Parts: sequence; C-alpha cells; structure tokens
Amino acid sequence: MVAANTIRVQGEHMNSRSGQCNCGAVHFDADDVELEFSACHCRMCQRWSGGIFLATSVGSVRFTGEENLKRFRTSDWAERGFCDVCGASLFYHLLKLDKYEMCVGAFDNVDDFVLTGEIFIDRKPGGYAIAGEHPRLTEADTIAKYSEYTN
Ligand SMILES: [Zn+2]
Ligand SMILES: [Zn+2]
Repeated sequence: MVAANTIRVQGEHMNSRSGQCNCGAVHFDADDVELEFSACHCRMCQRWSGGIFLATSVGSVRFTGEENLKRFRTSDWAERGFCDVCGASLFYHLLKLDKYEMCVGAFDNVDDFVLTGEIFIDRKPGGYAIAGEHPRLTEADTIAKYSEYTN
C-alpha cells in the first residue's frame, strides 16, 4: 500500500484526461482515469444514452461550468449527470463511494481506451453486438458483482 501511494505522489499513475459536453458549457478534468472500460446494456442506460452506455472509472474529477451541469437521481445509490444546455451525457455517479464513471465519448482523446467487458448482457437487444473476446456478465452476475456499491 505504501508503494502504491508513493507511485501516486510521483505522478506515474496519475493518468489525467480532460473532456467536455457537445456545446462546451461543461468541461471536466479527471485524474486516475482507468483506460479499461465496460459497456452496459441495462434498460436505464439504453434510454439514457440512446443505446450502449460506455463509461470508465476515474479517481477524481473537477468540473468547469458546473452551473450548466444537471444531476438526475436514478436510484437510491446513483445519479447521472448531463449538460443542461446541449443534453450530452457526462457521467454515472455512485453516491455512497462518491465514485464517478465518466462517459468514454466525452473525453477529448479516447484512442487508447480499451473495452474489456460488458454487463447486463441479457438486456442487450438482439439487433446489435460488440465484437471481441471479453467477459459478458448477465444481470444477475452484474448485481452480485457490484452489490457493494448499491447496498
Ligand atoms: Zn453542453
Ligand atoms: Zn446500465
């Protein structure tokens, strides 16, 4: 644990990235950005994102234009954020842990982000699919795996 903290202080693993909504009213700067992300096929994500929801964990995030950032509570444990001007989806926020999952497409540069898993695979419509070999968790698997975040 000491070693990990030391590395963070030295900045080697402080993977910082910026991003914004479509109109630029909301900017963000995130630290400790996880480059491996998952796709969610749950019904709420389908409605919120227009299809597949792609988001990645960040250690911390600072917003500029926060007055244009709208937060919508979608469950007892989470809220989602979007730009109040252009409507672009920006994040999923786990309230208990204060953990942000930023929308992959909102980052300025996503070329080195890699999709490494799918969740709620049994909610995915049959008409499309993500190619590649990676874990695909069912709704039951997903809820079991992430119960610590929701209870
Ligand atoms: Zn906007
Ligand atoms: Zn979802």
